[in-house]
Amino acid sequence: DLLFTEGRVDFQNVCFSYTAGKEILSEVSFTVMPGQTVALVGPSGSGKSTIIRLLFRFYDVQGGCILIDGQDIYKVKQNSLRSYIGVVPQDTVLFNDNIRENIRYGRISASDQEVEEAAVAADIHHKILSFPDGYDTEVGERGLKLSGGEKQRVAIARTILKSPRIILLDEATSALDSQTECNIQASLAKVCANHTTLVVAHRLSTIIKADQILVLHDGRIAEQGRSVVL
Ligand code: ATP
Ligand code: MG
Repeated sequence: DLLFTEGRVDFQNVCFSYTAGKEILSEVSFTVMPGQTVALVGPSGSGKSTIIRLLFRFYDVQGGCILIDGQDIYKVKQNSLRSYIGVVPQDTVLFNDNIRENIRYGRISASDQEVEEAAVAADIHHKILSFPDGYDTEVGERGLKLSGGEKQRVAIARTILKSPRIILLDEATSALDSQTECNIQASLAKVCANHTTLVVAHRLSTIIKADQILVLHDGRIAEQGRSVVL
């Protein structure tokens, strides 16, 4: 099992390819100190989401290693690793269950009231209430009419409920109106305080709040700094 103490993340010379021959990440090294927020920025295709996927162990690295609190994440049980990490992917796919359970999945012992509080915090509660069946609405194949950004807010509600020590957020590229964005960021900031956070950031407001910024270019860290010059 992963012996989680602080929530420090280290990438050490990580190399990765999805298919042989085409290297996607080359010698990527960085450290996220416990409780810090790191913003990953860079052009489309530069490898930002790949870094998130590797930390959640969707794939195996081909070179180097990824450590949490000094432990190689490939040497611990996957379940134990994932119990400490909450991930909000770029394109959220909801489970074939009702919306309440989709949120409760973050912490299955949560009460209905806690589920709704998380939905309020993620600014998706009113949208859910607009469906005739509210929280009992099934997310079937025929689908709930939710946009990409709204599905992502369901995933954020799930993560708020889980309150993991490490949060991986792959911001949707779709634009949110500024009020929604503001509300969500306030909610996430509440959950993220004292949590180590890696965020793939498209919004300047997210980047500005980060403790550290990593600029990726063609699978390499091109620049690394503590603040942006505007
Ligand atoms: P965006 O800002 O558009 O989300 P990104 O920086 O998140 O881009 P990644 O998704 O990490 O980019 O992809 C990095 C590279 O890996 C891209 O060239 C992409 O085509 C390739 N890639 C991503 N996923 C796969 C996959 N499942 N199989 C093969 N190649 C992939
Ligand atoms: Mg991406």
